[in-house]
Amino acid sequence: MRPDVLIVGAGTAGAAAALLCAERGMRVHCIDARPLESAGARWVNGVPGWAFDEAGLPRPEPPERLDVDVRFHLIAGEGPSRVTIEDHGLMEVDMRRLVARLQSAAARAGVTFQEQVRVLGFDGETLETTAGPLQAGVFVDASGLRGARLLGSPPVPRDRLCAAAQELRRVRDDQAARAFFAAHDVRPGDVLCFTGLAGGFSITNLRYDGEHLAILTGSIPAQGNPSGPVMVQDFLRRSPWVGERVFGGARAIPLRRPYAVVGRGRVAALGDAACQVHTAHGSGIAPGLIAARMLADALAADEGPAGYNLRWQRRWGGELASAEVFCRFSQTLTVDDVRAFAESGIMGPRLSRAMLAQRPPLEGVADLPRSAWGLARNPALASRLLPVLTRMARARAHYARYPRDPEAVPAWAARLDRIAGA
Ligand SMILES: Cc1cc2nc3c(=O)[nH]c(=O)nc-3n(C[C@H](O)[C@H](O)[C@H](O)COP(=O)(O)OP(=O)(O)OC[C@H]3O[C@@H](n4cnc5c(N)ncnc54)[C@H](O)[C@@H]3O)c2cc1C
Repeated sequence: MRPDVLIVGAGTAGAAAALLCAERGMRVHCIDARPLESAGARWVNGVPGWAFDEAGLPRPEPPERLDVDVRFHLIAGEGPSRVTIEDHGLMEVDMRRLVARLQSAAARAGVTFQEQVRVLGFDGETLETTAGPLQAGVFVDASGLRGARLLGSPPVPRDRLCAAAQELRRVRDDQAARAFFAAHDVRPGDVLCFTGLAGGFSITNLRYDGEHLAILTGSIPAQGNPSGPVMVQDFLRRSPWVGERVFGGARAIPLRRPYAVVGRGRVAALGDAACQVHTAHGSGIAPGLIAARMLADALAADEGPAGYNLRWQRRWGGELASAEVFCRFSQTLTVDDVRAFAESGIMGPRLSRAMLAQRPPLEGVADLPRSAWGLARNPALASRLLPVLTRMARARAHYARYPRDPEAVPAWAARLDRIAGA
């Protein structure tokens, strides 16, 4: 029987959309090019707890959740300048377990899955796949960065791609591991995050739980920097106390704001396929889960993909576009700039917490007197940062005026290019 909704991609965004649409009474079919047990992200991601609430999904519990309220030490270069962030609500989630949980809940809610089926083409009516033609009421593209492109959106250029890697490794020498973290004044269990070592937009993020070391790296290789996987290898060469890999993976993350249209006609795009990524740190899980909920709600309300597009752009587009403005600014920073930032106090703990937890900067408003003082004492930094903050605020405001009429979108998008950069 023809499904109401056909979803391409059974990763976090696709599996969540499948579950949430089925829960609202729709007949859902979901395909993935890979075996279901290897669909989506296969590593550990930091995801803010509030995003699960917003998406209407239960929060991860151990063993899916790997941390318990750890402190996050953001170190400028190799230190010593730092910002320490507490109570941020970011959970370290084993994505293999989260994807499996979403897929099984979806199957229990009546979703049918077909694995190892790849999309070959789409004419707006019928999806050509390796398993033959498929039809549906609505087609959802949740096939990631290099997926099926059902909406015909342009590919993301190389200089907007973050090459990231994440691994969980055994530790051979507990004492050496503890000494490494102690040398940076970080207690075991907490996150030690070096920023700016491979370009302004780069991190090496480490956490030791007494048994395993979690390593996350990311950078923009098109700017001449070593990629995330190369940064992992460099770190391992310098750290003989780190043992074999338990699991992990590497891939590119899109660092551009969401496409100006994420739903029209009978087609919607979700997650990385829509560039729904918080680009300030390359985080796509929360935006993808929340978009899945908004899509399911819009379809249940008979508003179709266009209704989802309008709801999503007006509610979240501005957040992600203003994060993109900051992301591009961060790419211009040297290690010394990052250090000056940390020492100036411009990014106080509350602003940093809001940024880390993917919350609006207004939640860090209590830091503003301190930020203003930091800016006043650093006119060179202030002259670079103030125009960026202005563009962030203007981009956010522009999304509140996202047009209801699809014909007005190109003019709206052209104005956005002038505000936030093309
Ligand atoms: C190393 C690393 C670390 C990261 N860390 C974080 C983090 O800490 N926090 C965070 O929020 N985000 C993080 N991200 C980003 C996050 O993992 C992605 O944004 C997220 O996985 C995107 O989910 P998705 O469901 O949109 O797409 P995907 O996970 O890419 O899933 C897409 C699915 O579609 C399938 N597919 C593709 N093409 C086709 C086709 N033609 N036909 C059928 N099926 C197809 C694929 O097989 C895949 O299963 C990280 C990314 C990397 C690489």
